[in-house]
Amino acid sequence: MLLRNATVATLDPPRVEKASLRIDGERIAERGPSLVPAAGEEVLDLEGALVLPGLVNAHTHLYSALARGMPGPAEPPRTFVEILERVWWRLDRALDEEAVYLSGLVGAIEAARSGTTVIFDHHASPSFIRGSLDTLRRAVEEVGLRSVLCYETTDRNGLEGRDAGIAENRAFLAAGRSTLTLGMVGAHASFTLSDESLDLLAEAVRDGGSSLHVHVAEDRADVEDSWKRCGAGVVERLRRHGLPGPRAILVHGVHLAEAELRDAQASGAWVIHCPRSNMNNAVGHAPTSAFGRAALGTDGLDADMLAEARVAFLKMRDAGRADAFVAALAMLVGGHRLAEAFFGLPLGRLEAGAPADLVVLEYRPPTPLTADNLGGHLLFGLDRSHVLSTMVAGRFVLRDRRLTTVDETAVLASARTAAERLWKRMRQL
Ligand SMILES: [Zn+2]
Repeated sequence: MLLRNATVATLDPPRVEKASLRIDGERIAERGPSLVPAAGEEVLDLEGALVLPGLVNAHTHLYSALARGMPGPAEPPRTFVEILERVWWRLDRALDEEAVYLSGLVGAIEAARSGTTVIFDHHASPSFIRGSLDTLRRAVEEVGLRSVLCYETTDRNGLEGRDAGIAENRAFLAAGRSTLTLGMVGAHASFTLSDESLDLLAEAVRDGGSSLHVHVAEDRADVEDSWKRCGAGVVERLRRHGLPGPRAILVHGVHLAEAELRDAQASGAWVIHCPRSNMNNAVGHAPTSAFGRAALGTDGLDADMLAEARVAFLKMRDAGRADAFVAALAMLVGGHRLAEAFFGLPLGRLEAGAPADLVVLEYRPPTPLTADNLGGHLLFGLDRSHVLSTMVAGRFVLRDRRLTTVDETAVLASARTAAERLWKRMRQL
């Protein structure tokens, strides 16, 4: 297929150029100012539309896709831990296989519609653990996106629940990767894991040749718990158990000291910033100036990485950071580097040999759009309403605003019915 007459923009380094892209199988075969169609080749004239690399959501919870608009708890939560106990831990306990599957479909459809092509998911469904990751994989692959999946191991559902969580991570890793899907080892957070559980997780990481995906110091409660348990902060506690290590995903880090963040990143770990979620839970603002190897995650709110980047920028500006603009864009690029480290593909590039993972945006800039001001258009102009088409591994999963892979209307109708049942089960828990 030949995509002609595109405005191709990439961020690392910033580059904006009129170009054509030839797609062959899962890759971009050729890029040039005006490629000539080959015999029998499908030609798509993009009429100057903007083409960006597919975006990466470095931390989310697809299982929360059916939570939108659900009734709040009878007694409003006052603390972060109460938000978990009264909202999210009731929701995840109520999830059955059908709800997990439909959450995966709904979340992946939203991602495709937001130009997000890679999802790092952190999954929990304590009443349906065994086989849950494969159910999610089925859903996300049906929509056609790339994902890295894991199960949130925790002690909060007893030893049986913990062991089932570890076994699910191990089984999914052992089943091997597909073109679109990878596994890693998931853990909820230090404050819901004993020393023994951390040792078991470290073993699973070692045996699977994998890395850990865990919430870290999202709220002060996690830090206080760690000091109580071992006389040290969360990063040091993980380190004493042989974690986090290369390619580990540490989410939030709101209450980490800058030195702790630097230590963690020096070990090869990534830190994932979720500013909208942090604001929603009123847990504070991460010390972003200590971020180096960092990316953005939506933490289950939606799949809109442009919105996340905008809020990351505004929140850093609000906190007085003079370089907020550059820092927010670096985190967007960080998502590509993170996905590249997992998939071993040059994601984020739109050139010959790179995977054909891209998003077409119907964006008519009211001012000149150049490599020098691309960041300004990304943070102040572009949003997901501009997303026209999304391609993953050479296949349009969204084309001219229509999902090509699943019947969206039917999925959403099933999801609404399943959501009602889910909310009812939550009330009975
Ligand atoms: Zn999270």
